[in-house]
Amino acid sequence: SLLTKGDVQRLDLETFNPQLISIYKSLIPSQEEVQKQRKFLTHLDRLVTRDWGGAKLFLFGSCANDFGVCNSDIDVCLSVDDEHSSKAELVMRMAGILRSDDMQNVQALTHARVPIVKFTDPDTGINCDICVNNMLAVVNSKLLHDYSQVDPRLRQLAFLVKHWAKQRQVNETYRGTLSSYAYVLMCIHFLQQRRPAILPCLQKMQPTYEVTVGKIKCAYFDKVNTLKNFGTGNKESIAELLTCFFEYWASFHDYNHAVISVRTGSFLSKDEKDWTRRIGNERHLICIEDPFEITHDLGRVVDRHSIRVLRDEFKRAARILRQGPNPAVALFEPF
Ligand code: ATP
Ligand code: MG
Repeated sequence: SLLTKGDVQRLDLETFNPQLISIYKSLIPSQEEVQKQRKFLTHLDRLVTRDWGGAKLFLFGSCANDFGVCNSDIDVCLSVDDEHSSKAELVMRMAGILRSDDMQNVQALTHARVPIVKFTDPDTGINCDICVNNMLAVVNSKLLHDYSQVDPRLRQLAFLVKHWAKQRQVNETYRGTLSSYAYVLMCIHFLQQRRPAILPCLQKMQPTYEVTVGKIKCAYFDKVNTLKNFGTGNKESIAELLTCFFEYWASFHDYNHAVISVRTGSFLSKDEKDWTRRIGNERHLICIEDPFEITHDLGRVVDRHSIRVLRDEFKRAARILRQGPNPAVALFEPF
C-alpha cells in the first residue's frame, strides 16, 4: 500500500514545496528556446519536403510530449512510404540531404537497433535525431502529452524525476538504467494509483482518438480539456508526491511479481505477461509495460547490476526526502 499524507508530515513541507516548484520552473524551456526550436523545425521541414517528395516529418519525444526540459535534443520521425528501401537506406538518404544543407556532425547510425541520423544545426546549436517510420513513438508522445494536460502535478513530478535521474546517472539505457520515457510512465502510473486518483486511465475510457500503426491499434480518450478537474479532489503537494514516489520504488514495489501498466491503470503480474524468464539479453527485473506495444517491457534493458544501482538510488532519494538536511539540494547532487 502507498504512503498517506501523515507519513510525510515529518518533512518540512512549508519550505520544501516552494523549493521544488522553483527547481521545476528553472527546468522549463524559455520562450526564446521554444522559438528557436520552431524556427529550426520549419527550416528542416522545408528542406525535406523540397528534396524528398512524399516524405513527412513528425515531432516526437520530449519536444512533443510536454516533458522537455531546457536544452533537450529534438526527436523527429521521418515518414515515407517506400517498401523497397531499408530503414538504413532511408537514413542514409536523409543524411545526404542534411550534409548538402551544411548541417554539422551528420552521423548516420545505420546499424543501431533503431537506425537514426544525428546532427547539429549550426545556426541554433540544436542537436537533432531523426528516425524513420516510427509512428508508434509519435503516438505514444501524444499520449504522454495528453496526460500532462489533465493535472499540472504530472509535469512537475516528471521534470523533477527526470532531473534527478540525469543528475544521478540513472537515465542511460545503454548502461542498463531507464529511459526518460520509462520514468514518465512510472510517474503517470503512480498518479493513477493515488487515492483519490490524480490521473485517470485514458485507455480505459471511451476512445475519441484511434489510429492503427502496423498491427497495433492505438485508441484512447483524448478530449483531455474536459478532465481539467479530474485530480482536484486530491490535494497532495508536489513535495509529498515526490517523496511517496521514491518511497514506493524504494520499499513498496513488488519487483518479483508486479508489472506497472499505464494502459490498464493498474498492476499486472509477470506471470500473465509471461515475463518470468530471461530470454537472451532481456531480463524482467523491473517491469514497465509499454502502453501500446504491450509485449514490450521498458525495463528489459535493466540487468543484475543496474537493478541494484537503481534500487539503491531510489532508497537514497527516499532517505534524503525523509531525513534531509536540505533535501532540495541533496536529492539532485551529481553522482
Ligand atoms: P529526454 O528529455 O531525455 O530526451 P524524451 O522524452 O525525448 O526525453 P526519450 O527516452 O529520449 O525521452 O524517448 C523519446 C521518445 O522515444 C519517447 O517519447 C517515446 O516516444 C520513444 N521511446 C523511447 N524509448 C522507447 C522505447 N523503449 N519503446 C518505445 N518508444 C520509446
Ligand atoms: Mg529525447
